[in-house]
Amino acid sequence: MPKRTPNHRLVKRSRTYSVDEVATLFGSHRNTVRHWLNNGLRTIDNRRPLLVHGADLADFLKDRRTKSKHPCAPGQIYCLRCRVPRTPAGKAVAYRALTADRGDLVGMCGACGCRLFRRVSLAKLRAGAGDLAVAFTDVEGHIGKHPYPSLNCDFEKEPTTDG
Ligand SMILES: [Zn+2]
Repeated sequence: MPKRTPNHRLVKRSRTYSVDEVATLFGSHRNTVRHWLNNGLRTIDNRRPLLVHGADLADFLKDRRTKSKHPCAPGQIYCLRCRVPRTPAGKAVAYRALTADRGDLVGMCGACGCRLFRRVSLAKLRAGAGDLAVAFTDVEGHIGKHPYPSLNCDFEKEPTTDG
């Protein structure tokens, strides 16, 4: 099987794709697509069949191409705005569980103040987080131990309840 770089221009940004459709589009194996899902490709929700927004897919593949030139060291998260891996502000991140064994590392870019996301499996969390302080959040996103002493960022402003 030839290993090609998937061409993100094949993706129609306005439609949604199932795992099978993505695999067919690029002539890839479904496991390749699953690998992408484990490495940050976002799905619309966690319901099956898993669906991916074309725009997310195109952006993911573009980022992947850029990231391969700028690999993240442990403790770094790729900043979409700076377009380089960044160490989160305060060397602290929150782990927001999505499933029993997978979640998002969420931090703030120390350079531009943008939010940093990195999809990780719980098994690889330690390797990915390096020496960062990781706060585990419950399903509703409440942080047990607040790791951001006095940061004036979006984190603080985001409402956690509706009332
Ligand atoms: Zn940044």
